[in-house]
Amino acid sequence: MASTEEAVRTGESTLQELARRHLWMHFTRMSAYRDHEVPIIVRGDGCYVWDEHGKRYLDALSALFCVNIGHGRADVVQAGADQAKELGFFTNWSYAHPRAIELAARIASLAPGDLNRVFFTSGGSEAVESAYKLARQYHKLTGKPNKTKLIAREIAYHGTSMGALSATGITSLRQPFEPLTPGDHHVPNTNTYRLPDGISESWFAESIAEKIEFEGPDTVAAVILEPVQNAGGCFTPPDGYFERVREICDEYDVLLISDEVICAWGRLGEWFGAIKYDYLPDMITTAKGITSAYAPMGAVIASERVFAPFQTGTHSFTHGFTFAGHPVCSAIAMANLDVFEREGILENVRANEGKFREMIEGLRDIPIVGDVRGTGYFLAIELVKDQESKETFDDEECETLLRGFLSGELYRRGLICRADDRGDPVIQLSPPLIAGPEQFAEIEEILRSVLTEAGERMHVHSGTGHFAVRPGV
Ligand code: PLP
Repeated sequence: MASTEEAVRTGESTLQELARRHLWMHFTRMSAYRDHEVPIIVRGDGCYVWDEHGKRYLDALSALFCVNIGHGRADVVQAGADQAKELGFFTNWSYAHPRAIELAARIASLAPGDLNRVFFTSGGSEAVESAYKLARQYHKLTGKPNKTKLIAREIAYHGTSMGALSATGITSLRQPFEPLTPGDHHVPNTNTYRLPDGISESWFAESIAEKIEFEGPDTVAAVILEPVQNAGGCFTPPDGYFERVREICDEYDVLLISDEVICAWGRLGEWFGAIKYDYLPDMITTAKGITSAYAPMGAVIASERVFAPFQTGTHSFTHGFTFAGHPVCSAIAMANLDVFEREGILENVRANEGKFREMIEGLRDIPIVGDVRGTGYFLAIELVKDQESKETFDDEECETLLRGFLSGELYRRGLICRADDRGDPVIQLSPPLIAGPEQFAEIEEILRSVLTEAGERMHVHSGTGHFAVRPGV
């Protein structure tokens, strides 16, 4: 048993001591907290959060791409409390309840085309896992039982459960758990900043057709893509990309899954990323902003075509999760969507995304800033050794740059954002959708000074092409 008295005696906060002893944080090197404080966030309001010492931070990541309407919304919480009093829980296994029904209908009304059938989950990985299984069962029921494979993109993150992980294209996340669900295959993502010489952007979509041909069209169930790929740093699709991907999927009878765990619910200024890029997937997977993270929830939104084999006869989608469509989460999601509509959240993104982009573009004069990309309230800055040659940092340098300096320094300076090297090193920004010029200016000020210092520490100089790591940095 941890002793709280012991923690008080040593002058450490009780929470710090208990966190170190008992809280196993996700994707976290726990050893890092032997000598450093665990960052403990205790309160949030709007675009800001406060730690246990009362220090304020600008949450330019919406916690983890999810607190879309901002922190501290008592009205949204109240909707959950009211629902808990009326019906705290009932399941969606064979039963329905009013909030899940209302929410499913509302989501269907916002989703593109005939994506009318909503299968709830408790989060994003469960949504991807469910879509993958649904694709397989759909093909089995429609007379194509060998269509089992899933095509995803390199460096994309689609979640951690074994099926979702097999779609995830990040080697370091996959290797510890191999063998994964068999049948996953990966194609290039839409990294136009590093498009190989002599290759045109049409190659991105054509590589999907090539992969389907190579694997055998009769064996491929689905292609899963984010509208804007998060991991690697906000890779947007080139013009015509999704139009061509849709054609390819139709040609080979392969289902198109739009993984919108991040890209839905206003992140790109529309309800869904597929609306922004004008394509119609067969399924959308979503989570995060559906409740603005006031409760855990996700969903697969399927087209009438995908639902059809389950509509008649004795078939059911033999899959489910106890808590999916939880009444309290559903009520919170409804209240969240009320805020979106009442307070013009999408309109705020549309009105301000240009200013946000302009502010980040303004950082290009800092020698370590190689690229700025993304859209809506979802931007990334790629860091390079040399702006001209685009030379990137190796693993050891990334360790020095990101973990040795940037992550800690940005936090120390009061800015929560993400320094990520799952692909080439990037800083990612994804502020609450209520943010505006005041927050952009704060982000700019902190980033400018921290990135300038990062460049100096790594000896990145403008225009010289010179780079050297200073020993001991
Ligand atoms: N898919 C995408 C595109 C994501 O960004 C994430 C999480 O960030 C997931 C799936 C997994 O979602 P969760 O962490 O809710 O399981």
